[in-house]
Amino acid sequence: MTYGRLVLAGDAGHTVPPTGAKGLNLAFTDVRALIPKVEEFLAEPDGGTAALEQYSQTALDRVWKAQHFSYWATSLMHNRPNDDAFAYRRRRGEFDAITGSPEGRAYFADGYTGWA
Ligand SMILES: Cc1cc2nc3c(=O)[nH]c(=O)nc-3n(C[C@H](O)[C@H](O)[C@H](O)COP(=O)(O)OP(=O)(O)OC[C@H]3O[C@@H](n4cnc5c(N)ncnc54)[C@H](O)[C@@H]3O)c2cc1C
Repeated sequence: MTYGRLVLAGDAGHTVPPTGAKGLNLAFTDVRALIPKVEEFLAEPDGGTAALEQYSQTALDRVWKAQHFSYWATSLMHNRPNDDAFAYRRRRGEFDAITGSPEGRAYFADGYTGWA
């Protein structure tokens, strides 16, 4: 999410479907990761952009997990126009497997609220 000294954060750097409820959380965590790296960069502006690139790597590690979670949660909870009975029942089975076990619920909760 950097190009030289150009830095992106929040929706400018990545968008996710609102159904995953991750966008604003990602924006906040981007900025929290970015501030110390900007301070590091400004302390020695001629020292290169390594600090800004470290921000990008930190942010992207989280962003791609959230991309997956948002995509998956949206797919899990929405019908598609051409879905048949098999697709509906398969998705229902997936939903029941997630909500029916402590491990499934823990994964879902972690995806929604974790990865700070
Ligand atoms: C329906 C919906 C529900 C959502 N629900 C959730 C949720 O439950 N949880 C969650 O975490 N996220 C949620 N999100 C996502 C969240 O709102 C965004 O990810 C978040 O607002 C991104 O923040 P941002 O600061 O990156 O961008 P923005 O909030 O879009 O801020 C960008 C700002 O830049 C301004 N701007 C644009 N162009 C210019 C310009 N040329 N000059 C000056 N200013 C400009 C805009 O007016 C805007 O104020 C939801 C989004 C939608 C659409």
